[in-house]
Amino acid sequence: MQAVIMAGGKGSRLAALTKDEIPKPMAPFLGKPLLEWQLEQLKRYGIRRVTLVVGHLKEKIISHFGDGSTLGLELDYVEETAPLGTAGAFPLLLPKIESEHFLLLFGDIRFDIDLARMERFFLEKRAECLLFAHPNAHPYDSDLIVTDGENRVTGFDSKHNVRTGWQDNLVNAGIYILSRDMLRRVPEVKKTDFEKEILAPMAAAGEAIYAYRSPEYVKDVGTVDRIRAAEEEWRSGFPAKRNLEFPQRAVFLDRDGVINRYNGFVRTPEELELLPCAAEGLRQLNSSAYLAIVVSNQPVVARGETSEAELETIFNKMKTLLGREGAFVDDVFYCPHHPDSGFPGEVKELKIDCDCRKPKTGMLRRAAERYHLDLSACYLVGDTTGDIQCGKNAGVRTVLVKTGEAGRDGKYAVTPDLVADDLAAAATKILEEQ
Ligand SMILES: [Mg+2]
Ligand SMILES: [Zn+2]
Repeated sequence: MQAVIMAGGKGSRLAALTKDEIPKPMAPFLGKPLLEWQLEQLKRYGIRRVTLVVGHLKEKIISHFGDGSTLGLELDYVEETAPLGTAGAFPLLLPKIESEHFLLLFGDIRFDIDLARMERFFLEKRAECLLFAHPNAHPYDSDLIVTDGENRVTGFDSKHNVRTGWQDNLVNAGIYILSRDMLRRVPEVKKTDFEKEILAPMAAAGEAIYAYRSPEYVKDVGTVDRIRAAEEEWRSGFPAKRNLEFPQRAVFLDRDGVINRYNGFVRTPEELELLPCAAEGLRQLNSSAYLAIVVSNQPVVARGETSEAELETIFNKMKTLLGREGAFVDDVFYCPHHPDSGFPGEVKELKIDCDCRKPKTGMLRRAAERYHLDLSACYLVGDTTGDIQCGKNAGVRTVLVKTGEAGRDGKYAVTPDLVADDLAAAATKILEEQ
């Protein structure tokens, strides 16, 4: 796979660091230009040929990296004589790219991601375009991606839109894998916006554009404050540990009675109400080494009381409310099944004895596969003995919270490893154990 880095940005927001003498991708990050960090990351995953799209102060970049041989890379350059937006240089890239697909990224991000894993997902999905996507702590002022249940991107929701309803917390991070043919979608060299003019129409037309959902570290470092904050994170070693090449830890979270108030099953978005401690607990996990992954039994789908589309809306309400409080979950897994059939209105094909309904461990095992989790280093937080039994079955440490059913269901004779008043207290206890 070849790579293209858009390194033409002027970076006026970085003027204090660059003094307009160096271009934005050359801004120093822990003593080395941002672009050099990026190139090293590409090399680590076997990428050798990289084309840099340069513009503003391009001679500084070209004289620093030359043909790339000092880094063990083959570099070449596409020079913009006028700003071409994010895709206007595509026709100039066409003769440079010989691989069937290539990585495209922007010069003002710092990242540490398993590119081989992302490429496998691109190939599995037979995608035209794959975009790296993740939740963040401020979805309300971020551009969001809209996807269907199969991670296909169906739309883009600009932060300038007046939002109604409930949104998934999924942000485009600015790292793509594109088929080479995508370059032909820009017929002539002229200012072109990649998202608005190329991706949005593709999404609307149902084309093969997918989101790669990942908790790995990607940050836009286009301002001085962001560079400083990212440097701090880098010194702590946190970003490198989040790379999915390495085993990860997660806290699995039951939903009803842990994140939202338990008043029986939630069948409509109106019925979902966050518990007061939920956002605080999640914020603690979000800034720790643990991923926060919801695993939830939702037999309301099998019973025909809620459709999967309505269930997605209910989860989106949860994500929107958490996002307003600076908290997020890394992913959601749910079991829509139920074993006992014979009820009016039920969905026959979901009335099965599945492998995912807790206390079975299917959801945890699937999450472990997707996020390279070491289950022996994970926790499960739940409010029923079924949750705790599930945690035991999967070999994770268990925390019973006193919200929701507070273990009073009494279905399984199990003892949790820890007991906590609520999700915030549970997160504190988990982090104290480390
Ligand atoms: Mg529950
Ligand atoms: Zn199931």
